[in-house]
Amino acid sequence: MVDQSDFPVSDISTPSGAGDQSTGPLSSAPLSTELLSRYAGPCPRYTSYPTADRFVAMQGDDGSAKPWHALKDVETLSLYVHIPFCRSLCYFCACNKIITRQYGLASSYLDNVLKEAQWYRDRVARAPVVQLHLGGGTPTFLNDGDLRRLMEGLGEIFDLRIGDDVEYSIEADPRTLEIETLDTLRELGFNRLSLGIQDFNPDVQRAINRICSVEQVRALTEGARARGFGSISYDLIYGLPGQDVASLEKTVDAVLDLAPDRIALYHYAHLPHRFKAQRLIDSDLMPPPAEKIAMQLAASRRLTDAGYVFLGMDHFARPDDALATAATEGRLARNFQGYTLMPADALVGLGASAISYSRDGYWQNHHSLKEYAGAINARGEAICRGWQLSEDDRLRQWLIMELMCHLRLDKRVLEQRTGLPFADGFAPELARLQPMFDDGLLGQTESDLFVTERGRWFLRNAAAAFDTYLHGTEQSALYSRVL
Ligand code: SF4
Repeated sequence: MVDQSDFPVSDISTPSGAGDQSTGPLSSAPLSTELLSRYAGPCPRYTSYPTADRFVAMQGDDGSAKPWHALKDVETLSLYVHIPFCRSLCYFCACNKIITRQYGLASSYLDNVLKEAQWYRDRVARAPVVQLHLGGGTPTFLNDGDLRRLMEGLGEIFDLRIGDDVEYSIEADPRTLEIETLDTLRELGFNRLSLGIQDFNPDVQRAINRICSVEQVRALTEGARARGFGSISYDLIYGLPGQDVASLEKTVDAVLDLAPDRIALYHYAHLPHRFKAQRLIDSDLMPPPAEKIAMQLAASRRLTDAGYVFLGMDHFARPDDALATAATEGRLARNFQGYTLMPADALVGLGASAISYSRDGYWQNHHSLKEYAGAINARGEAICRGWQLSEDDRLRQWLIMELMCHLRLDKRVLEQRTGLPFADGFAPELARLQPMFDDGLLGQTESDLFVTERGRWFLRNAAAAFDTYLHGTEQSALYSRVL
């Protein structure tokens, strides 16, 4: 469920004195359904800036400047590997995946991923890999032998580390992950496990074709803890067919009983015209928008009442989790896996549709398996599109991540960078943000623009005001709704 179009941000310390920015329970942050509805329209998630839909055609090395040339200078590196295979189709799914029972496909795909890794051998500095993430699809579709082959192959090219000072994570499907595989994963250096739960209600599970019991999840959670996984996170989804407030609350209660370290509570965007799998969902079972908002409020309140810290957008963490501490201390950063403590200087994404970044921009691989394999076999890489950052892009990228991670903007930094008073340099943006100021979602001091506690629900709306490429276009129809 990781949105692999996230982007990094440096861990920039922020000034104090910017008002209401505590990470307390929602009881002090009243939200109304009317307010939520008003900001619920389509909006990018800002996992990159510019957003991935802006990327343009980009070829491999052809003599011109490319964003991957900056890989030579990195001091820390992040790796992402996309494993697109799944054994069965979940009807809500919008990921780039292949449903198959033919294991041979995965094995030859892995050959190509390792070939692609070789292409980076002379293009990237030998920098410690502080983060590694296997996403999908279902990375644990790979058997233990191929998981080992993947990590050993990557280890020949990149400086992989083992220990608590790195974050190596894997997305797993609790329906198919074997307890014994947890031993292999720990041995290979994985210390974070992300389990896709979505909902425990049997009717909802039937409606989305994803049957998974609480007991399966409990066994894996306890097994992972016993083996020393430092962080276990669950993905939940609200707005699924057949869900209502009462059923979602029961799921949240079951989740609280299992006490994962981190929880992502995603909104289900029903876009059957774009995602074929979603056409298998009975639209009569879809909850109406008002019910979805009530679900989001109810689930979030239950999580925060139980002590989870709301990090922003759709992420929660236990108060003793390092991310929660970082949030209260203003040290949160963001990368492809969402909020993090360890942003790297660059990310190399391997596999079909994977996105990479460096300080100079983004580049993305072909989506389809056929095109990916063809490109790797022809030239060793599969890059098809990307974006070289301009100075203005860099400024807005920094600014949007400041809002997303630190919930504030230091106007003085922006004034230094633009040479203009903040109110002049960002007059159109401030005009777009005026309704958010009026609704008490944003505030200002002389030195800062800040997000209020209840404004944390609307971070992407605030970010959108600074998106040069969004305004004056008709693109909003392409994005999922906030709620
Ligand atoms: S297992 Fe994950 S990636 Fe595969 S179909 Fe289900 S939701 Fe999509």
